[in-house]
Amino acid sequence: MQDNTYRSTGSFHPGGVALGLALAIVAMFPVSFIYAYAVRYIPFVYINFLISFGAVFAVAGAYTFGESLGRNRSRAASLIAMLLAGALTLFVFWVTFLYVLSEGKLEYLKMLTDPGYVVDLIKELVKVGWFTLKRSQVKGTAYGVMLAVEAVAYIGIFVFAWWTFLKERVFCEKCQKWVARERVAMYFDLAPLEGIASALAAGSDAWVDQLRLADATPSLQIELASCPGCHELHVVDLIHTQDVVDKDGNPSTEEKVLMSNILIHGATAARFQQRVDQLRAEFAARA
Ligand SMILES: [Zn+2]
Repeated sequence: MQDNTYRSTGSFHPGGVALGLALAIVAMFPVSFIYAYAVRYIPFVYINFLISFGAVFAVAGAYTFGESLGRNRSRAASLIAMLLAGALTLFVFWVTFLYVLSEGKLEYLKMLTDPGYVVDLIKELVKVGWFTLKRSQVKGTAYGVMLAVEAVAYIGIFVFAWWTFLKERVFCEKCQKWVARERVAMYFDLAPLEGIASALAAGSDAWVDQLRLADATPSLQIELASCPGCHELHVVDLIHTQDVVDKDGNPSTEEKVLMSNILIHGATAARFQQRVDQLRAEFAARA
């Protein structure tokens, strides 16, 4: 059987990583001030945690956006750069927070250029604490543990962003461009799934004729990444999707990827598009 799976080349390209780091650094300073003032002056510890995680997400998002403008396909290089961005974010957030907490009495530049000084300041702060939880001042070991958990969570957010946003991307080597995956806005019948999957795996285009509209959940959805530059690279994902209602009556959709990164020919992609148009017309006629 021929191998018709799309695989990234994994080539390292410093431009993308540098752009990601640059945007993360540009973002982390203003974001750190919003974070520090919010945490300092909003007296709800749990809201403060949410604000700090949201702020870290914003910086991780800036990195992700920057890297996607470049052409780096090396997952390892992405991870190293994101861990570095995470550590820098943690440090800058601390510097800004200490600056805000001291009401500007601590020198910002001195802290920024002297990590040892910042560590000493944090140790002092842990000893005395600065906020209360359940009417008692949080300090000492409890505060230290809280800060350690928070630091792990910060780095974790960057690893999460690496794992999700930067994971399954398609790159056209011919055009040297990223290709977006697009979800076809249509629910297909799951009944012929076996035939569809085996035709796709065998590199045949017979699966296109087996696509029908679904009448009920669960159903099949299709994602297609087609390079708009060369029209030669086409990558298909099959997704099992099911509408569910939890015990409180909240509806949601559960999704599971059944097959991913299947390469199809340009002619097959064109036939698929025709089939989608045809089904769409059928659906319109039915309504
Ligand atoms: Zn292309």
